[in-house]
Amino acid sequence: MKRNIIIEPDPILRKTCTPIEKVDSNVRKLMQEMLETMYAAPGIGLAAIQVGILKRLVVIDISKNKEKKEPLFLINPEILEKSENTSIYEEGCLSLPGQFAEIERPAECFLKYLDLNGNQKKLKASGLLSTCIQHEVDHLNGVLFIDYLSKLKKDMIIKKLVKHKKEIEKIIV
Ligand code: ZN
Repeated sequence: MKRNIIIEPDPILRKTCTPIEKVDSNVRKLMQEMLETMYAAPGIGLAAIQVGILKRLVVIDISKNKEKKEPLFLINPEILEKSENTSIYEEGCLSLPGQFAEIERPAECFLKYLDLNGNQKKLKASGLLSTCIQHEVDHLNGVLFIDYLSKLKKDMIIKKLVKHKKEIEKIIV
């Protein structure tokens, strides 16, 4: 089942998510639905908060190959270390449709998380994956990529999204 993605501005996107206490079949089912929602959008990352669930859950798939999908399920991800050197990617977000901006972040990060079986895992990420993980972990703390921009740029993007939301409502009505 696909879920509805929450679009900025929405106060839900600013909440802090709570950790998963037990990785059970409900968590696994929800993450499959998040993955389905992300693929359909399409996007390369999605946090549970973006579908209105305030839990520390993230799905990512940066593989370009549509035939062979490589999903990554991150439960309670925690970034333990970030590199000093940085990289810049043009970022977008499924909660900010049509909006993109160049964001500078640590080029590498080292994280721990639980997998779908509840096993503790560690991962060293670089390149696009590192940026994607940092973007998604930000979501779990109520942070969006536009928060790294100047107030002027951020306000401009939010204004566009408000307009976009109004247009969608018109169509629905
Ligand atoms: Zn996002």
